[in-house]
Amino acid sequence: TITSTSDQKPRILLMGLRRSGKSSIQKVVFHKMSPNETLFLESTNKIVKDDINNSSFVQFQIWDFPGQIDFFDPTFDSDMIFGGCGALVFVIDAQETGIQNLDEFIDVDKDVSCYDEKENLDEDIVDEMKERPREAENTDSDSEEEIKPTPATLPEARKCIEQLRQFFLQKKNEGSPLDALDDYIEALHKLNLTVTKAYKVNPKIIFEVFIHKVDGLGDDCKMETQRDIHQRANDELNDAGYDQIHLSLHLTSIYDHSIFEAFSKVVQKLIPQLPALENLLNILNTNSAIEKSFLFDVVSKIYIATDSTPVDMQSYELCCDMIDVVIDVSWIYGIKEDQDAAAFDDQSSSLIKLNNGTVLYLREVNKFLALVCILREDNFDHKGIIDYNFLCFREAIQQVFELRNKLQHNSTTNSVG
Ligand code: GDP
Repeated sequence: TITSTSDQKPRILLMGLRRSGKSSIQKVVFHKMSPNETLFLESTNKIVKDDINNSSFVQFQIWDFPGQIDFFDPTFDSDMIFGGCGALVFVIDAQETGIQNLDEFIDVDKDVSCYDEKENLDEDIVDEMKERPREAENTDSDSEEEIKPTPATLPEARKCIEQLRQFFLQKKNEGSPLDALDDYIEALHKLNLTVTKAYKVNPKIIFEVFIHKVDGLGDDCKMETQRDIHQRANDELNDAGYDQIHLSLHLTSIYDHSIFEAFSKVVQKLIPQLPALENLLNILNTNSAIEKSFLFDVVSKIYIATDSTPVDMQSYELCCDMIDVVIDVSWIYGIKEDQDAAAFDDQSSSLIKLNNGTVLYLREVNKFLALVCILREDNFDHKGIIDYNFLCFREAIQQVFELRNKLQHNSTTNSVG
């Protein structure tokens, strides 16, 4: 086996076509960039090794690959790249699948119906009509004739829409890719290529697919997109004889917490101590009447472990928001100017009472990790017991990680010896 030369840290690779959103994901999750700012990101043209190890518990690297990388290029060292890699995240732009375009198209018809009484169309609509036929023009040279009209009046517009709708429906039924869908087909092709190549080098890699930018899609469309990608990607793998490769799919967006949730699941798969951590959280919860607790990597808001009760998105979001509040308040009021201190240290703790009788309680576990618990306000009367239990918990967590460090140390000295 090939191990990475520089370190033994589990490595996550982030790959996907150009503009699929890789840099945005990296910036939003690990560098606190606000989602709107990503609109101005320059496209990635080289491999970016982003070492976030100094500020985060999660020790991994994100290799932001330019989408157009060519695996058959002899300078592409796949052994080096995939050899030490723990998980490979492949990002697919869900807004490029074309599945939603069809619905949008059919909706245009509804929009136009409100102009029934007018003789001429509203200017916006006319502009929109002009745009759409032009977009569709390149899709099929045979149909160019049908798609060209530039509508100026309502009857013409209706006719045009009807023609376009028929065209799209026909294309969808035939299952043939439109030009607009080419990126999607290409993304699936690249996914297949990447996964099989990586698997050959390192069969232990965990494969994750982020179906990204789903913020613009309705629930039905999300499901349909996920189903479609699952089907096509697996069919292709099976056809090529790789049915042992498992792809995990996640619907993600940088505009909500889904990207953090998805990253949490990926990172958890790379933490060997996960069962021990879960167990400790379960014990803490039972003995302290806590309903839900998360162990957070503070910098990225990835939760590296939680107890074994199911996670509901709302609780997770609440805890994420709490971390933001604590860090922001610390930055403003907690740091003396002349001190080179972090906003999060061993004194960090916070308590937020919500008006529905719930309490959020945050405690520092170590330099990188925080415990965030959700519990009923009545049960918080026994804060002394909870704090005592927390200290035992923190001690146990430290032991779990020290044990691992020792084991790692022994194995390296053994191999040196
Ligand atoms: P890269 O080339 O794969 O690194 O892609 P970028 O990170 O540069 O992203 C391309 C564009 O997608 C940018 O304009 C981002 O603002 C946009 N983008 C990224 N993530 C999302 C998302 O979750 N939702 C939406 N709507 N747009 C996104």
